[in-house]
Amino acid sequence: MENKTSPQIHADYLGMCRAVAARIAALIREKPTAVLGLATGSTPLGVYQELIRLHREENLDFSRVTTFNLDEYLPLSSTAPQSYHRFMREQLFDHINCQFWHVPSGAARLGEQIDADCAEYEAKIAAAGGLDFQLLGIGRTGHIGFNEPGSGVETRTRLVVLDSLTRSDAANAFFGLENVPARAVTMGVGTILGAREIAILASGDGKAAIVREALEGKITSKVPASLLREHPNTTWHLDTEAARELTSIAQPWRAPDADVSNFELRRRALLAAAFAAGKTLAELGEIDLANAGAARFAPVLVAAQSEVEADLKARLSDELLPQNQTVLCLSPHPDDDVICCGATLLKISGRGNRLFVAFGVNGANAVRDKDVLALLRARHTRLIAYLEEHLEPGKSFEDAVSDVRASIFEREPGAPDAPLLRELKRLVREGEASDACRKMGAKPLFLDLPFYGDGAQRLPLGEADVERMSAMLETVQPDLVLLTGEKNDPHGTHMMCEAAFEAAAEKYLANGGKTFKKWNYRGAWDDYQTAEGDYFSIFDKAAMEGKIDLILDHISQLDPLFPGEQPKEFWERARDRNRENARQLQRLGVLPPSRSFDPLYCEVFRFDEV
Ligand SMILES: [Zn+2]
Repeated sequence: MENKTSPQIHADYLGMCRAVAARIAALIREKPTAVLGLATGSTPLGVYQELIRLHREENLDFSRVTTFNLDEYLPLSSTAPQSYHRFMREQLFDHINCQFWHVPSGAARLGEQIDADCAEYEAKIAAAGGLDFQLLGIGRTGHIGFNEPGSGVETRTRLVVLDSLTRSDAANAFFGLENVPARAVTMGVGTILGAREIAILASGDGKAAIVREALEGKITSKVPASLLREHPNTTWHLDTEAARELTSIAQPWRAPDADVSNFELRRRALLAAAFAAGKTLAELGEIDLANAGAARFAPVLVAAQSEVEADLKARLSDELLPQNQTVLCLSPHPDDDVICCGATLLKISGRGNRLFVAFGVNGANAVRDKDVLALLRARHTRLIAYLEEHLEPGKSFEDAVSDVRASIFEREPGAPDAPLLRELKRLVREGEASDACRKMGAKPLFLDLPFYGDGAQRLPLGEADVERMSAMLETVQPDLVLLTGEKNDPHGTHMMCEAAFEAAAEKYLANGGKTFKKWNYRGAWDDYQTAEGDYFSIFDKAAMEGKIDLILDHISQLDPLFPGEQPKEFWERARDRNRENARQLQRLGVLPPSRSFDPLYCEVFRFDEV
């Protein structure tokens, strides 16, 4: 067995999941009675979807496979929407032929009984012959399973108290922090390390910092995932976003075999040195480069200043924008388009391009019941028209309104929306997105991807999602596609939309669809760093006001229901980030300084090789 310390970096999430699923499939074909350790959370979803596909299309047989899941909240009924038991059924076991699957019990019971059950879980794993393969995700604190910081290699399956960060991460899923169970049962770090092979997955920039700490920091129980480095057969699977803070990628000049003849290395080193020293590129001296860890290349780098400056200035040019082409912006939620690229979309539609915005999910989950009530009272045209057109036989318009009200007032916490209420929420968001598209001169396309579910339950990404996405590509036939490059949104929706798009694009290209360029955007939750930008779309205060108007068209998203960690409104985040992006270019001396009453703003795009 080889000790693979360097991670496998995959171009995208779908590619990562397929590689891991292929490994699991190979293992099962080699050993039909394989024992698998499985994990929940949004990261492994793509692996399960691929395993389901392999089962259906390539007869992958799970009938003799045994599985053990890592953990479960306690107390929590196995039918609760947040239960990992239920998650595994819905995302995997309802769709394959596995009969011997185990998830720790979340049933409320006495402490001694829990201890006895934990010992029994360990005994079952041992009786099955131990874990052949363990699939893992990584939590933001570096936890694996519910092994919070401080869990050492000696720990086995046991009762744990959850960390406040872990609980607050789960708050959205439980409709409030107060509903998140305080405890959980988890396999121990020792149980996990007992597996003969481990694959740990991380996707999205939200995991980049902890991935770096786990792979490059000290091996310590404070970061339980770092303990995997002492396991002889662990593979780290990362997508490019999760890998972005690793030294070899973010600071390539620090590597012993760094090659300064590489332009990208010179560029990265000079930008890092300039930001660290608070100087423009032109002001950098050898000492600043030495301080940034590039002493051995200082003379070459100083000589490269004007070249890097010219390169950066070329990236500010609107000549990089398409002209007279077909441009598609794929917006996972109905407002990612305007928050992240509103100003640039306005520029694009002004250059003779045909502009389409395809919205991945309908966004109904983020509409409050009370907003629907308020809009009905205000006789919102779109909602009223819908109710009038869809009256059930024998019912009046007033009956329909009171049905909606009753479904809101009588629902249990965490129960799905009644179908009619759900439709109204979808219409609220479609209406808002349509208004913004009209102002941008864009044609909206609502994909309403089925995986998004009904508000209480999500479905695995399936053929239906990919079909809708492919049909959209066939219709639009884009020359350029703008895709979100951020996947740390609260429910993993961006990741699922990307996976659906990648699968659809493969089909589309295989069927003779014409190739297109891809640009990635960010800005709803995070932004690109200057060194990562390929096109800096600069705009002025008037354009910023235009962009804010587009964001404010999404009235239901003021004071957002799922704000993430930042308490600010989306339009405030966009304005502040776009201002900061421009400021960084001004600090580097490549964008002229602006007066405080007439600031400049910038949306950053990254080009993706197809
Ligand atoms: Zn989003």
